[in-house]
Amino acid sequence: MAEENKITREEVPDACPHCGNKLSPWQQVLLATDRALVCKKCWYRIILDVIPTTKKTDSDKKNKG
Ligand SMILES: [Zn+2]
Repeated sequence: MAEENKITREEVPDACPHCGNKLSPWQQVLLATDRALVCKKCWYRIILDVIPTTKKTDSDKKNKG
């Protein structure tokens, strides 16, 4: 049972960035799952940017100094 499709709530907005309409918890789940959701109020298509998880190796060392 590998759970590689982990959903982090941090990257999911709790409101529509276009009209500010508050998203329901269920809508946030849909958004996190589909990476996209259409706002029911303004029909704006909210799309999550795919943020690649950078490994903490070089960048961590580079910042030092
Ligand atoms: Zn909206």
